[in-house]
Amino acid sequence: MRVGLVLAAGRGTRVGAARNKMLLPVAGRTLLEHTLDRVVRADCLDYLLVAAAPAEYEIVAELVEQLPTEMPRAVCRGGATRQESVQAALAALPAGTTAVCIHDGARPYIDPAEIERVMAALATHEGALLARPATDTVKIRATADSLYTQPRETVWLAETPQAFRLETLREMYAVPTEVQAAATDDSSLLERLGRVPAFIVAEKPNGKITTREDWQRFAAYVAGEGVLRVGNGYDVHRTCAGRLLIIGGVSIPADFGLDGHSDADVLTHAVMDALLAAAGLRDIGYYFPNTDERFRGADSLLLLAEVRRLLTERNVLIGNVSAALIAERPKLAPYIETMRENLARVLRVEPARVAIQVTTNEGLDDLGAGKGIAATATACVIERMV
Ligand code: MG
Repeated sequence: MRVGLVLAAGRGTRVGAARNKMLLPVAGRTLLEHTLDRVVRADCLDYLLVAAAPAEYEIVAELVEQLPTEMPRAVCRGGATRQESVQAALAALPAGTTAVCIHDGARPYIDPAEIERVMAALATHEGALLARPATDTVKIRATADSLYTQPRETVWLAETPQAFRLETLREMYAVPTEVQAAATDDSSLLERLGRVPAFIVAEKPNGKITTREDWQRFAAYVAGEGVLRVGNGYDVHRTCAGRLLIIGGVSIPADFGLDGHSDADVLTHAVMDALLAAAGLRDIGYYFPNTDERFRGADSLLLLAEVRRLLTERNVLIGNVSAALIAERPKLAPYIETMRENLARVLRVEPARVAIQVTTNEGLDDLGAGKGIAATATACVIERMV
């Protein structure tokens, strides 16, 4: 059994966000999901193990469970350092593991073919790493008044994946903790044992997302690598007494609610239809029929999450959503920001990717008489070609 081990326990807050960068959203998926999506496409791997920060274990476990793959998979609780995470993973490997391919969760560009090349090297070597030749000239400045120029052809930048036969990896991680702590990658532990891993020269981009600029570049890469598609949605619900008024997942104080089979969240329904339409799928009545008792009183944000999952399964990423609410009353403007945050959270996009405008019907027709609230939505998605 060949295991792909993805390290996702790092804090990674240098991108400028308060939370782990791997949980930051990019076009309907977290950064970690983008990486995992590439890793599970490597046919040479039989099993996926993800090391998560203990505080994020539940959220990562849910993401991993929802991955659109048949590959058996599990999540383990990683540690504060890379080495502690690998140690924890060594204890969580499935029975029959023969080799482990370690990859940084923050390297979402990885081409599955590169993983295959690194793993293939284990047929003749006990370890292998992906590396890139230096393109800048490297200066060694050990002290303030010394400078040495290293011949560039001898300089290589170590990336991941790095793969090892299981017995080798166990040997590498049997060295004292302080020796482990000094290593900034896994293969240097093998070097310390006086042995040399196979060297696989990287052929494709495989940058690590470290800074805010890296993250923005990756978002632009994702947006640029597919085909843009647009979809429209419309929904209307009658107002009625005795029900809660829920719009965009916000419970709004009012002396009336909206009639419907689910929670009648008119805005969320219009957004769902726009996304389904953009992806070339059927409408929400097809996926969530109002004759199905499972959806009676349903929280529409959960249905929206299911729509996002349907898109992910089809390799469709979310660009942006623009919606308009048509309501005579109550005043909805104070709730717009919370609605945006709700929809963005469920869709795993930045709130700036969700726009909500509000208007009245100027007293015209039944909407103008306050007999209902309507919503329209347009969604732009990216159909991925890879
Ligand atoms: Mg509806």
